[in-house]
Amino acid sequence: MKRQIFTEDHEAFRETVRTFLAKEVTPYYEQWEKDGIVSRDAWRAAGRQGLLGLAVPAEYGGGGESDFRFSAVLAEEFTRAGAAGLAIGLHNDIIGPYLTSLATDEQKRRWLPGFCSGETITAIAMTEPGAGSDLQGIRTAAEDRGDHWILNGSKTFISNGILADLVIVVAKTTPEGGAHGLSLLVVERGMEGFERGRNLDKIGQKSQDTAELFFHDVRVPKENLLGELNGAFVHLMTNLAQERMGIAIAGIAAAEHLLEITTQYVKEREAFGRPLAKLQHIRFEIAEMATECAVTRTFLDRCIADHSDGTLDAVHASMAKWWATELQKRVADRCLQLHGGYGYMTEYRVAKAFTDGRIQTIYGGTTEIMKEIIGRSLLG
Ligand SMILES: Cc1cc2nc3c(=O)[nH]c(=O)nc-3n(C[C@H](O)[C@H](O)[C@H](O)COP(=O)(O)OP(=O)(O)OC[C@H]3O[C@@H](n4cnc5c(N)ncnc54)[C@H](O)[C@@H]3O)c2cc1C
Repeated sequence: MKRQIFTEDHEAFRETVRTFLAKEVTPYYEQWEKDGIVSRDAWRAAGRQGLLGLAVPAEYGGGGESDFRFSAVLAEEFTRAGAAGLAIGLHNDIIGPYLTSLATDEQKRRWLPGFCSGETITAIAMTEPGAGSDLQGIRTAAEDRGDHWILNGSKTFISNGILADLVIVVAKTTPEGGAHGLSLLVVERGMEGFERGRNLDKIGQKSQDTAELFFHDVRVPKENLLGELNGAFVHLMTNLAQERMGIAIAGIAAAEHLLEITTQYVKEREAFGRPLAKLQHIRFEIAEMATECAVTRTFLDRCIADHSDGTLDAVHASMAKWWATELQKRVADRCLQLHGGYGYMTEYRVAKAFTDGRIQTIYGGTTEIMKEIIGRSLLG
């Protein structure tokens, strides 16, 4: 089915992203996977190409483009290229909105130009060793010392954790406040007492630097409070829908791409004297996956359009997230099976997609938490 949500401008942007990936990412990606981290040069190249801060106002060096469909194009093309390690989607679509919607003018002047040029790489640190799905369990705490906070605690599984120059940290600022005692504090590279732990060894997305962060008596100036004091929970709830859409878009794009690769593979691979594609079981596998992808694509495109119009709610974003990422997981498994032993070899795209994609049903809120959100909206 022809997609109906994109215009010529979006398709022209798609070409720009493809050219960028071919020139600045794909040639280096294998090395980054070995290094466990991408090069800062790639971030700067993305900045020069205008791929960072698409939605940031032009006066701060951004694209000034509020149409989320450009972000969707970026997510789709990065997924097709298998380039999850360069976490531009996280920077643009997850962290960007916090900075553009919550920062004061002074903070915007300080942070946004570097955000758009690629000099300032960002991260958001919610998860702790003892608190993931349940953010009310956060223990990282900031004590008010007049003109600054003293921040203590630790975070884990933080994407861009090693490269990040600016980290939005969710911390308790009112100990007895529960969910409404949390604030967003911006911790910057070089602040005394801010240390990085290990670059964590993952089963996939090897070039994405996912790290532990430690805060020992970090002096965070009051000017680095982002948004409302004790307002983090509301700020997080407001922005999580877009985070989930980004992950869902990558999910359906990955499933579609795997299906394309596998369709080609079964046409070429022969067994019992004819191509696999001639066997009924194989044809049914492909037919089922193609149908599931087509149905999901229709729903996802509607969600992308609604989000671009500002009408997508958190419940539908949660539906998109769990459905598209669970589909991605099923398709990755079935496509790997259809590749036989070759599917288990890391040099095959399907093997990498299997391990890279496995996190999708976990981060940004697990499938179970998505169902909780949907269930609560229907049943109270
Ligand atoms: C590669 C990677 C990158 C990440 N990037 C970031 C990042 O940049 N920033 C950040 O802050 N975090 C990040 N995370 C953390 C991620 O968001 C959490 O791992 C995720 O939210 C789950 O939390 P948890 O690991 O503590 O699991 P838990 O919360 O301990 O959950 C364990 C299991 O219990 C289930 N469960 C929990 N509560 C319920 C419930 N109420 N009902 C039913 N089932 C439930 C979960 O669904 C899951 O299956 C990242 C994680 C990974 C692995």
